[in-house]
Amino acid sequence: MSRAVVALGANLGDRGSTLRAAAEAIAALPGVRPVASSREVESVAVTLDGPDTSKPRYRNAVVVIDTELGPQELLDALHGIEDDHGRTRQERWGDRTLDLDLVAYDDRSIDTATLTVPHPRAGERAFVLAPWLDADPDAVLPGAGPVADLLAAVGDDTERVDEPRLFDEPARVGPSSTPTTAPDGRTGAAS
Ligand code: ATP
Ligand code: CA
Ligand code: CA
Repeated sequence: MSRAVVALGANLGDRGSTLRAAAEAIAALPGVRPVASSREVESVAVTLDGPDTSKPRYRNAVVVIDTELGPQELLDALHGIEDDHGRTRQERWGDRTLDLDLVAYDDRSIDTATLTVPHPRAGERAFVLAPWLDADPDAVLPGAGPVADLLAAVGDDTERVDEPRLFDEPARVGPSSTPTTAPDGRTGAAS
């Protein structure tokens, strides 16, 4: 099992319903177990020209999952969920019904033509860091440091939305992982 962090975003349509449905779809993927989720935050759209208050605002959230899917398999599955929600791809950083980014996958560094992990811009985006911290107070961005420190450095310009977390259960990542007991009675972290 690997642990993955997925950032969700939407600025078109019924954003809250889309994020909730997408989180449910992620949790229902074969080989995925939900671990924790954030509440939603809202922030101004950022385009290639910078923040743009004339664009619909974004809703963002983060979910943490355990998964048997490999990183590229997981990204492919996330793209399938984007497609199910009418995601189209026009200009870079354009308006979208749903965006699902793989922020981190264990503490692995991946750099292929289709996948870079950790997500190269996660550490400078409050709309990723703030919900991630909400889902996991001890979160660390591999290679960059504690998410709490990164968020303090960039400044939190997001607004918390008064809605429940995306997953009903479980709520947040606990203070430390509990050792698992294997069927044969051995104890130790799941691999
Ligand atoms: P940004 O990556 O700055 O958040 P974006 O989400 O708008 O921008 P997209 O158009 O959704 O970018 O994705 C473009 C391509 O990025 C995807 O087709 C995918 O192959 C690639 N990609 C690389 N690394 C990742 C990652 N960690 N998560 C999601 N997509 C990634
Ligand atoms: Ca994105
Ligand atoms: Ca994306």
